[in-house]
Amino acid sequence: MRTLRQQMITLLSHGVCSARDLSQMLRIQEKEVYSHLSHIARSVFSQRHRLVVIPSQCLVCGYLFDKRKRFTRPGRCPRCKGERIEEPRFQVV
Ligand SMILES: [Zn+2]
Repeated sequence: MRTLRQQMITLLSHGVCSARDLSQMLRIQEKEVYSHLSHIARSVFSQRHRLVVIPSQCLVCGYLFDKRKRFTRPGRCPRCKGERIEEPRFQVV
């Protein structure tokens, strides 16, 4: 039986996933997904892979959250103050 993190790494190696996608596929809470992601970033790095974050983007003005360090979806756009923000997505390459 593979661990949850190994399953997450497999899913992320096969394609781009958001935390919501992973939570649905693995039947866990989204906040649980986020807590695993930082561990996954470290463990894949030691195997010469990388957890790539495709940054959130504001759906109103197009602002890209490319400097953001946290994995969670930002609540609000700093440029237009809009709250329609696309989720960040993740992939292991
Ligand atoms: Zn905006």
